[in-house]
Amino acid sequence: MSDKKEKAVIVGGGLVGALEACFLAKRGVEVHLYEYRDDIRNMEHVAGKSINLSLSVRGRAALAHLGLDLHLTQDYGIPMRARMIHPIQGHTYAVPYGKEDQCIYSVGRRYLNELLLDAGEKFPNLHYHFNYKLTYLDVESGEMVFQSHDVEHKIQSDMVLGCDGAFSNVRKALMRKTRFDFSQEYIPHAYLELCIPPTQGGEFAMPPNYLHIWPRGNFMMIALPNQDKSFTVTLFMPFETFDAITDDTSLLDFFLANFPDSIPLIGQARLIEDYFNIKPSPLVSIKCSPYNYQDKVLILGDAAHAMVPFYGQGMNCGMEDVLILDQYLDKYPQSRLKAFEEYSRTRNIDAKAMCDLAMYNYIEMRDLVAKPSFWIRKRLDSFLHWLMPTSWVPLYTSVTFSRMRYHQCIANRNWQDQTLSGLASVFLCLSGGSVVALCVLSAFVRNPHWLERLQWLREPLAVFPQRVLR
Ligand code: FAD
Repeated sequence: MSDKKEKAVIVGGGLVGALEACFLAKRGVEVHLYEYRDDIRNMEHVAGKSINLSLSVRGRAALAHLGLDLHLTQDYGIPMRARMIHPIQGHTYAVPYGKEDQCIYSVGRRYLNELLLDAGEKFPNLHYHFNYKLTYLDVESGEMVFQSHDVEHKIQSDMVLGCDGAFSNVRKALMRKTRFDFSQEYIPHAYLELCIPPTQGGEFAMPPNYLHIWPRGNFMMIALPNQDKSFTVTLFMPFETFDAITDDTSLLDFFLANFPDSIPLIGQARLIEDYFNIKPSPLVSIKCSPYNYQDKVLILGDAAHAMVPFYGQGMNCGMEDVLILDQYLDKYPQSRLKAFEEYSRTRNIDAKAMCDLAMYNYIEMRDLVAKPSFWIRKRLDSFLHWLMPTSWVPLYTSVTFSRMRYHQCIANRNWQDQTLSGLASVFLCLSGGSVVALCVLSAFVRNPHWLERLQWLREPLAVFPQRVLR
């Protein structure tokens, strides 16, 4: 890189774009961030994805770089130490996430985004452009067209960072280059957000320090606490199940049959109003490769790896992207090309692994979590982790409470599964052998003449050791 001050354009001012802007500005780069929406700090209502999110170690590590971690975890975020399972029968029980001091934090999406935009404003070399939608990018020349209030603006940059989410226009421009791999998968399930308001006394209607889950096999509902003492409730179900609920009666019947304890919490009237006011949103998983075009264009966050939200890692992974890119820019101060290439190569393996893990966790959350085998495995994992804290790290712990590379989290789990099934086979052989020995013994006790019938074995048994030793 030359001594000339570097310039970068960031497309998208969501959680990842706003964070990346701060990181680059901190490096001294002249940054221009273009965001399709208005400045959310001035908006009354922000439409879009989930209202709150779970923040864990990877996101926190990136936020710590800007000194925002402690405020989010100690002053603002609501710690969630365990899953609270709501069976249909109504007796709730908790399944801890990890050790006693380990928790994830419920944070408001809007609050976090605003916090990052405010943090960026402190850098004189970071400039925001709201209401600018990228409509065209030529990845080779870096020429872009942004639409703003019906006016087209042509801009050129040697460094473009695409943080424009799952339906990224920057990624679409990369796709026009050869040897760009892309796959996407819509799962058959959609989500819809409801709300459990605070009680009349202004308190949380359920214990707040939990992520509440109503697992129902093929569908589920979850609830995360908000700072105003409400809960955001998210219903995840196949589209057909949503479609089958057509009026107030079918909605209430469905909730009575599946989530009876939630009706008084949400309130019957509010449930009906909210449910029919919002359309279920689809969920998509996207993988692609590579993430860069030479040293000119790079995609981060959902633009590079949108994932289904069941591990609570989409944002955390996107924020970790920013941190890892920063480390590669440090590693190759003279070559942005090397930094981009190595980032893309290494991060791709991990982001794809995380997309797979997120798919797996949907089955765990909606179904396995309610099964005794899940409980037994969790207990066993916790015990082994306590016994061997560094060598036996359970899958959830490695993904959520550590910065182990995502693909290693999977390899680690496979190794643990193999070890446990090996031990189980040995145990079964030993117990099988003991059963056979017990049968022989009891047969002998009941009928000692059996031994006489085995006289023919006496000679070979006596001769065998001598032969072997010879
Ligand atoms: P986005 O948040 O999509 O931001 C992209 C930005 O780019 C937007 O501001 C958009 O307006 C802008 N933009 C788009 N196109 C253009 C354009 N052409 N020009 C200019 N600007 C553009 N993750 C977690 O870690 N924990 C959770 O608990 C969690 N829960 C979730 C729950 C749900 C229901 C969903 C759907 C997702 C959840 N996620 C969670 C995932 C998380 O929301 C995403 O991974 C995260 O928002 C990605 O951030 P991003 O900045 O990459 O993309």
